[in-house]
Order: sequence, then C-alpha cells, then structure tokens
Amino acid sequence: MRVVVATRNEGKIKEINQIMSDIGIKAVSQQELGINTVVVEDGSTFEENALKKAREVMKICREITLADDSGLEVDYLNGAPGIYSARYAGEKATDWERNQKLLSALEGVPFEKRTARFVCAIAVVFPDGQETVVRGECKGFIAFEPAGSGGFGYDPLFYIPEYNKTMAELDMSIKNKISHRARALSLLREVLKKYMLA
Ligand code: IMP
Repeated sequence: MRVVVATRNEGKIKEINQIMSDIGIKAVSQQELGINTVVVEDGSTFEENALKKAREVMKICREITLADDSGLEVDYLNGAPGIYSARYAGEKATDWERNQKLLSALEGVPFEKRTARFVCAIAVVFPDGQETVVRGECKGFIAFEPAGSGGFGYDPLFYIPEYNKTMAELDMSIKNKISHRARALSLLREVLKKYMLA
C-alpha cells in the first residue's frame, strides 16, 4: 500500500520505509508526485500542524497521506520552544544558536528542574475522510552544556539519564528505538496495519 508523506525531507521517507516495509507500506514524498505546496504551520499544537499538512496534501493527491510535526518542550519554560522549536532563535538561526538560546533561558536553573521532552505527532488522513493522529514522546533533561556530535537540532543538549548520555552521544540504532519519532512511527504502524485489515 502506498502512502504519501507531506514532507520535503527525504530522511523521513527513508525512516518510514525502514519501519513499515515489512507490513507492505511504501512511502513516497509529496515531491515525487510533483506536489510542491508548502503548508503554513499555524496550528497551536503539534497535532494541529501535522493534521493540517496531511489534509492539504491529501486534497491534492487523493491518496493516504502522512505528515508529522515535532519539537522540544521544556517544563521550566512552560513547554517552550514547543511548536516553535525550529524557529526558536529566528528563521535563519543555526542549531548552535538555538541551543545557546535555550542554555541562556535556563541559566541558573538546577538539574532537577530542567525536565524536557521531545514530541512527535504524526497525522494520517485517508481519502475516505478517516483521520488519526498519534503522538510519541521521549523524556529527558536539558544539560548544562552541549555534548556529542550525532543527530541534529537539540540533540546535544538533550540528556537521557537511563543512558547517561545526550541524544547526540547515543548510537543512531538506539536513538531510532527510543526517540519520539520512533515511538510515534510504531503507533502509526499499528493504525496502518488495522486499516489494511479492515
Ligand atoms: P520538524 O517537525 O521536523 O520541523 O522539527 C522541528 C524542530 O524540532 C527541528 O528543527 C528541531 O529543532 C527540533 N527537533 C525535532 N526532532 C528532533 C530530534 O530528534 N532531535 C533534535 N531536535 C529535534
């Protein structure tokens, strides 16, 4: 069964294919279908943004469409940067600048108050009108300084006590098992399996 993914990020297509190929799912990007729409992410939750992207692309291709939205929530900052994670330090800022801004916002905050979570919402919209959104989370703490060179984004600051490492120090094989995206994708796998059996 083919699913269209509302993204321009080929890495996401690869990840979805790795997790879903054994149940007969083949993911293709909107680009591969010649759909270049850029959906404005103006929702107030990860779920709303993911649904909006999936709905708009589904309206064009009329095939099963997936879209995700993800980010980092820091409890001490009342959930910021949240849905604004990619733009936290301005549109053109680098990962390093975003991480520095986060460290400054948490200056003087003790370890036990630096709790955070990565969140990933994935929406699936079917041509018959059915819609489902799943959410995966990964819990950790914001470290006092960056460590590690793997991953991307806030990974060097995201410390996971169970491994005594930041996300950027973890093996990709482990990140791909415990990450918010991996968890959301495994929930999505169940949704698609059920749909195919119905
Ligand atoms: P998007 O949902 O792919 O647009 O991601 C939003 C932003 O959240 C990214 O630009 C990163 O700053 C942050 N983010 C999402 N997932 C991760 C992750 O696995 N590691 C580090 N940062 C992430």
